[in-house]
Amino acid sequence: MSTGAILVLNAGSSSIKFAIYEAGTEPSELTRGFVENLGPAALLKFEGLNGDGEQHELGAADHSVALCEILDHASRMLQQRPLVGVGHRIAHGGIDFTGPTRLDDEILTRLRTLNPLAPLHQPHNLAAVDAARTVFPYAIQIGCFDTAFHRGHPWVNDTFALPRHYYKKGVRRYGFHGLSYQYVTGALSSSAPDVSNGRIVIAHLGNGASMCAIREGRSVASTMGFSALDGLPMGTRCGQLDPGVLLYLMNQEKMTPDQIENLLYHESGLKGLSGLTNDMRMLEASPLPEARQAIDYFVFRIRRELGAMCAVLGGLDALVFCGGIGENAASIRTGVCAGMDWIGLSIDETRNRSNEPLISNGKTPVLVINTDEERVIARSTAEFLCTA
Ligand code: ADP
Repeated sequence: MSTGAILVLNAGSSSIKFAIYEAGTEPSELTRGFVENLGPAALLKFEGLNGDGEQHELGAADHSVALCEILDHASRMLQQRPLVGVGHRIAHGGIDFTGPTRLDDEILTRLRTLNPLAPLHQPHNLAAVDAARTVFPYAIQIGCFDTAFHRGHPWVNDTFALPRHYYKKGVRRYGFHGLSYQYVTGALSSSAPDVSNGRIVIAHLGNGASMCAIREGRSVASTMGFSALDGLPMGTRCGQLDPGVLLYLMNQEKMTPDQIENLLYHESGLKGLSGLTNDMRMLEASPLPEARQAIDYFVFRIRRELGAMCAVLGGLDALVFCGGIGENAASIRTGVCAGMDWIGLSIDETRNRSNEPLISNGKTPVLVINTDEERVIARSTAEFLCTA
């Protein structure tokens, strides 16, 4: 195994989340943080493992500048360890990329052809790969795909009822948040070994939100489909929408594709419904009826999808909550499980309010697991280093 450090990058259009690990069979986290406002006035923040966060104003910075700054400021923690691997979160692996992949020119060319399938994520993910290859030419670059965990779905759950040539062109139900589901599935085998091989539903509820039905450790259904818009309503994304609404927006409201994209990705979901914010904490604190209604819609859709997933799985052996809302919002978990004793769900409110790992007192365990997508990427990168 190479000794040194692993950098994990999760790059968006205007921000880069990062984590740095000491390489090893089980990578050990040294620090994590993010750069926000990439462009004119970037800001670098370290979360600090002991709550000792710090921040630095970077001024004008693109992906490359930000990467150098991250490493520069992290050098204290690196303590002369060379950076030997960079692991990247990549939104879309299409049909072919079903596991972590070493990134080289040929692979990157193929991944760029998937840009149209994830226009708001993939180009930024790949821009970070380009920057990391320039800044760290001796480190191996590994891509980990949000779609990969779901690639084994049965055909009926992989297709839309469109003429078949669209399926061949890649118009399929891919599913996302796969790195989070992979982490939680792995963590379940230690926190709930008796059910981890059974029928599990995981609700990843953050700014982005989705649910995944898992049987024997493998994804069999996801609420997200072709894009990261489908399924549950999210902070600013609409979730499931009758395609007739799109026709109406185009034909009657005369909206352009760009305007519709902006509406569905940035102005809808909790923000659009409440007219206030995408932030669940603010919605819960708000006295506005619209804020309450946005929460009610969010909970209603989760319950509906939970029912559908139980039908797909033929029952339920455990329900897991993760993501910023799933891990922290006790009232949302209560709302989701209320009246669900027909599938054995019953919440212990004392444990629930403390965000304990096990929050149920009924037949079916309800668990809270803090997800860690960066660790999944670090582990995959470490595995490549083992064989390098
Ligand atoms: P992302 O998808 O951007 O990674 P997160 O997983 O960090 O998002 O989740 C962000 C969401 O979690 C926000 O809506 C935030 O309000 C919510 N959240 C975080 N802490 C709490 C809390 N204590 N109570 C309710 N909601 C919370």
